[in-house]
Amino acid sequence: MEYFDLSPYDYLGFPLPMRTVGWLGRGYGVQGASASPMAGVEVERLKAASRRLGSRTLGWHVCDFCGAFEGNGEYRYYLPGGEIYAAPMMVLHYVEEHGYRPPRELRDGLQAAGQPRWDWRAERLHAVLLDQSEDPEFRCQAAVDLANWKDPRALDALRRAAHDDDLADDAGDEIGRSLAAFMDRGLARDLLAEDLHDMVRYGIDEASSR
Ligand SMILES: [Zn+2]
Repeated sequence: MEYFDLSPYDYLGFPLPMRTVGWLGRGYGVQGASASPMAGVEVERLKAASRRLGSRTLGWHVCDFCGAFEGNGEYRYYLPGGEIYAAPMMVLHYVEEHGYRPPRELRDGLQAAGQPRWDWRAERLHAVLLDQSEDPEFRCQAAVDLANWKDPRALDALRRAAHDDDLADDAGDEIGRSLAAFMDRGLARDLLAEDLHDMVRYGIDEASSR
């Protein structure tokens, strides 16, 4: 899938509006390539913000430019001003190997980003995660992205989701990975003593072993 940078994201359904960055292909080529590649500090900032993959069921996509790299899943960047950008896993490869330069909106936004404050995006993901009538795929994405907020409301919702067996069948590993992000900071360690769904435990173990 190829998008012109900053287009509205519509590849998969998602509970929040996003814009695309780095969905490169032969049609538009390496967008943003210029004589001045990204500064090292900008690359490091992008890498630091690209820790958690969502939508890992996208299927493998091979790089159109070298054929030597393939990726699956996408990174989502929640900026302080309320914007959300979605980039394919390949974005770091495009930056490092093909001179891709993401738009200034994202580069500047990451520079300004700190901990996102609890806002309408968090409220929406929180509501989706806990709503049993919601699309299971939306709930799975909410379980991934709610971990962007180091907030007790996010932790509480994830704990409740971990005990929703239907959801845990589908998204238990992602719930576990999100819970592990809280446990890394010394929170919710008591969870380990709870009777957890196998998938949730798998996600916690996998995230903790990295
Ligand atoms: Zn390549």
